[in-house]
Amino acid sequence: METLIGKAVYKGIALGKIAVLRKTENVVKRVKIDDVAAELQRVESAKAQAIEQLGKLYDKAVKEVGEASAAIFEVHQMMLEDLDFNEAIENVIRTQEVNAEYAVASTGDSFSEMFASMDDDYMKARAVDIKDISERLVQNLAGNGDNGLDFTEPVIVVADDLTPSETVQMDKEKILAFVTVHGSTNSHTAILARMMNIPALIGVEMKLEDMQTGTEAVVDGFTGEFILCPEEEVKAKAQKKLDEENEKRNLLLELKGKENITLSGKKIELYANIGSAADVGYVLENDAGGIGLFRSEFLYIGRNELPSEEEQFQAYKQVAQNMAGKKVIIRTLDIGADKQADYLNLGKEENPALGYRAIRICLTQTEIFKTQLRAIFRASNYGQIAIMYPMITSVEEVKKIQEIVQEVKKELRDCEIPYKDVEEGIMIETPAAVMISDELAELVDFFSIGTNDLTQYTLAIDRQNEKLDAFYNPHHKAVLKMIQMVVDNAHKAGKWAGICGELGADLELTETFVRMGVDELSVAPSMILKLRKIVREME
Ligand code: PEP
Ligand code: MG
Repeated sequence: METLIGKAVYKGIALGKIAVLRKTENVVKRVKIDDVAAELQRVESAKAQAIEQLGKLYDKAVKEVGEASAAIFEVHQMMLEDLDFNEAIENVIRTQEVNAEYAVASTGDSFSEMFASMDDDYMKARAVDIKDISERLVQNLAGNGDNGLDFTEPVIVVADDLTPSETVQMDKEKILAFVTVHGSTNSHTAILARMMNIPALIGVEMKLEDMQTGTEAVVDGFTGEFILCPEEEVKAKAQKKLDEENEKRNLLLELKGKENITLSGKKIELYANIGSAADVGYVLENDAGGIGLFRSEFLYIGRNELPSEEEQFQAYKQVAQNMAGKKVIIRTLDIGADKQADYLNLGKEENPALGYRAIRICLTQTEIFKTQLRAIFRASNYGQIAIMYPMITSVEEVKKIQEIVQEVKKELRDCEIPYKDVEEGIMIETPAAVMISDELAELVDFFSIGTNDLTQYTLAIDRQNEKLDAFYNPHHKAVLKMIQMVVDNAHKAGKWAGICGELGADLELTETFVRMGVDELSVAPSMILKLRKIVREME
């Protein structure tokens, strides 16, 4: 038995086998071979495995995001069967007498360059797909299978670090816990763990190369312990804690259907944060009053190209319909910093948190923004949708957004596509937005305070930097004073103000927020009933 210690970013207990995620550097070596037939056979097996993997990915994507976005996996299956591509690989193996990995990688590179140089935009975009299928083949040839992200049974995922794009690709039903060497409490990966209701430990000092997939372990998200090869007694104790947690959870479930009202009659809205249409199940299960933050950027990451208008429309429509008239606040694309999509070519930046991200991308690459707005407005017919814009710093930005929204609405009217005029708000995540919140309140319907970024920008602490976790203090007086100022300015203009950053779920502050007059708290679905309990018990 071995006990390692880490920092818990989401409480809970897990008991099960570990799956070690090893990120392999794809450096492909050119090796001379003797047996050409054997190399060709290896390519065939890797191809068969790839087609099966893509079939599984297709089925999963159809369920989670619909047929339109799943289609890309069928395209990849077809590309794997492409005659020219296969002949080229065979040629390299036969004429140069080299290993399959090298033949696949070099063919992939030359085909991808050829596509990239074409004039037609559709063909250009296929360059990334060719790269993707050849990387998949190389991974299979190296025996790395599905990049380790596709688990057959529920496991404790152990990794060096996880990016948001890796996390969103995993099947939530198959993850018992996350345990990583690196990562920060406020990273989007930690946020995703909380959203998925999965115990997670970061900062665990361990040597991944010495760890074996399949080893039994216990993750204790209360004490921060990660216990490998637990003794029977330890397992029994963990099981007991797990049962107690489930019991507490059942008690909380009795609060379903009840109002979020204090003993003296003050009400507050409790909404949920989600990252994909697949999360709506947790929202309903936990009886949230609506969705206060739909992080739409997760539709854009972990893939090779921008999601189309139709694909986005289907996702927003599905969420709006499933919420059956309850409010769904969709945040427009907040990409950049730790949420990266390679195909956008955002480039490396010295200070990504202070860089080209969120509304700054939308206001400069307006076609991307307009496509998303069209999809949202089209979906507005199917439920109670609202829109909010991230990372606002000025009145001019809001006015520019409003002009673009008017253009989109006009285009929809010209094409006789119906839409509803929805509530439009902004996120308050920068000290600049706080200081001019009186002016901004006149322009928008609501404010939602993003305390994760507001804390980062107020305290000058990079939320991604794990060395600064101890300094990142969202309870800092400056942050709390800012929240009060924003709420007061919203109310003066007759608007409402909520909190959708992680601080909204901080049970130590629930009473304070109610007293401050915060109108809505939007939190991970698993926190809704815990907050309801506190609200109902306060004076
Ligand atoms: C925030 O900054 O508080 C927020 C809700 O947005 P995100 O965490 O996605 O940056
Ligand atoms: Mg933010």
